[in-house]
Amino acid sequence: MGKIKGAIIVDRERCKGCNLCVVACPLDLLTLTPKAVNQKGYHYAEQNNEDLCNGCTSCAIVCPDGCITVYRKKED
Ligand code: SF4
Ligand code: SF4
Repeated sequence: MGKIKGAIIVDRERCKGCNLCVVACPLDLLTLTPKAVNQKGYHYAEQNNEDLCNGCTSCAIVCPDGCITVYRKKED
């Protein structure tokens, strides 16, 4: 059976930096930007290691504003 590879896209302009997705990721792959802010002035979430994401969708489920889209694909 192929491994599932995940990828996420964060809508950084809608992110309000609440940190919920950072806490929710079981693989600890999300962080808030240390310096950069979006147009509203919030530090936004970004993935710190694209290779490890398994597409579990925890981050997207907890985001109160639906800022995260998760893609999953099966790898051979
Ligand atoms: S889909 Fe799962 S593994 Fe990937 S960043 Fe979100 S919470 Fe982490
Ligand atoms: S849960 Fe949503 S709003 Fe909160 S930091 Fe993550 S992406 Fe941003």
